[in-house]
Amino acid sequence: MNNQKMKIESVKNINEIHEKFSEYGRNAKEWQRKCALLLGDIEKFEVWKKKGFLSIYIYAAKLAGMNKFQVDEALRIFRKIEDKPALLAVAEKKGLYAVRPVANVATVETDKYWAKYAKEMPKNELEMFVKNSKDGNAVKVDIGDDNNTFCDSDLSTHKEKILMMRVKPEVATKLEKFYQGDWNALMEKLIELYEKDLDRELQNEKPEPVVNASKHMPQKIENYVLKRSHGKCEFPGCDKNYDHFHHANRYASNRVHDPDKIVALCEAHHGLAHKGLIDHEEKLPKNWKIRKEPDYTNLNWFVDEKIQFFR
Ligand SMILES: [Zn+2]
Repeated sequence: MNNQKMKIESVKNINEIHEKFSEYGRNAKEWQRKCALLLGDIEKFEVWKKKGFLSIYIYAAKLAGMNKFQVDEALRIFRKIEDKPALLAVAEKKGLYAVRPVANVATVETDKYWAKYAKEMPKNELEMFVKNSKDGNAVKVDIGDDNNTFCDSDLSTHKEKILMMRVKPEVATKLEKFYQGDWNALMEKLIELYEKDLDRELQNEKPEPVVNASKHMPQKIENYVLKRSHGKCEFPGCDKNYDHFHHANRYASNRVHDPDKIVALCEAHHGLAHKGLIDHEEKLPKNWKIRKEPDYTNLNWFVDEKIQFFR
């Protein structure tokens, strides 16, 4: 066998092995999802005991190769949603883990509401939606939710963080001099001044909007948005790096690249924006809030739906 032929054969072999492994893995995941969903009933009816096992953990490990963490997590989620038919239906379709982000916040009254989003959103987007809805960054719209999930302050952002800084001695001396027993007050003041300064700089450097433009965004506008966002997602409170330059006024509807209307967003917030779940999208992102429901009267929502349809 010559070298060339051996090479082709081995490439073919590698691809075949890889294809098989991927396919089996996909099936294994699907079957494990099905197993996880059955665990709730297995616990309720003590199936493991009746079949002679010492515990549900041994039962799940021996029969499905599940570890203790997987069993506990599946049972925890199941207990949270077992009285919520809409979420149970989503779990049956997409697996228990797909509803995990909403398991703690959903109530019997809001079951359908959360199920709708758990069904249509990818996991990271759903997690962000729940987080922003909770941390006070949400618009309060009455959907008959008496438990007021959106005012839940358990996970509020008021926890303190410890920062370690390595600075020059002269900077340290100055900071110590300014410090009046409250680091928050001093840092907030410094940040305010810094932001004012940056705002002024940005105003002076702001490129003109480009109208009737090709889809490609001009470099100077990209640079401007990067400078304003520091390469991070611009949704208030989000610390993720940006993944998308988002046209808040939808390029598809007017073919304009306006630096004030182009916002750097992470994957999750970009997804939420295109589902119509950002309030005040026409304003600068510091005014943005998460909506409970899309604004169906908004032109952007209409454009996004249309684009989604043609995709
Ligand atoms: Zn973000």
